[in-house]
Amino acid sequence: KIFTVSLIGRPNVGKSTLFNNIVGERSSLVHPTPGLTRDRIEAVTNLFGVPIKIIDTAGWDPVGTKNSPNMIEKMMSQTRKALFESDMAFFLLDVRQGVTIADEKLAEYLRKEGVKDYPNLKEIVLVGNKAEQSYLGDISNEVYSLGMGDPIMISAEHNEGIVDLYEKLRDAI
Ligand code: GDP
Ligand code: MG
Repeated sequence: KIFTVSLIGRPNVGKSTLFNNIVGERSSLVHPTPGLTRDRIEAVTNLFGVPIKIIDTAGWDPVGTKNSPNMIEKMMSQTRKALFESDMAFFLLDVRQGVTIADEKLAEYLRKEGVKDYPNLKEIVLVGNKAEQSYLGDISNEVYSLGMGDPIMISAEHNEGIVDLYEKLRDAI
């Protein structure tokens, strides 16, 4: 079975930007409107000679105010379906915005349900996105309180830190 990684997190943290960065600007629309990409988008890409399936998701947003309850549930069930297929997940945060209630709810869900709901999911890697070199904020206390371990700091848009994600993948496959 092909090694599968899903990109999860609330809307607007940069999942689709990271997806495009990894698969090479072919398959996903990136748009600043949160929740635009409601359908799951996936691509198989070749990394270090190994095919890897990457799944983008619309976003986990239990407290969303912009979407109807029905849409919120659809978006969340899409994340669950992606996780069900996945060997690994990259859980993205926006380090400029800091940790939000939606981030906390997703972390709580994964800590409580993640292991038993998703038998193939071996590792969830916390990723602090939008951490370009010019960024000087410090949200380490909030991030550690999620109980998901050390974040890997990246900038999907400016292509910084992506190699650290590839290293995580290479260690896991
Ligand atoms: P998604 O909803 O999680 O898929 O988020 P998107 O990939 O659509 O990105 C949401 C917004 O964040 C867009 O305006 C992106 O340009 C911006 N963004 C994504 N990655 C970065 C980054 O590394 N740094 C900065 N500063 N902005 C980013
Ligand atoms: Mg998106």
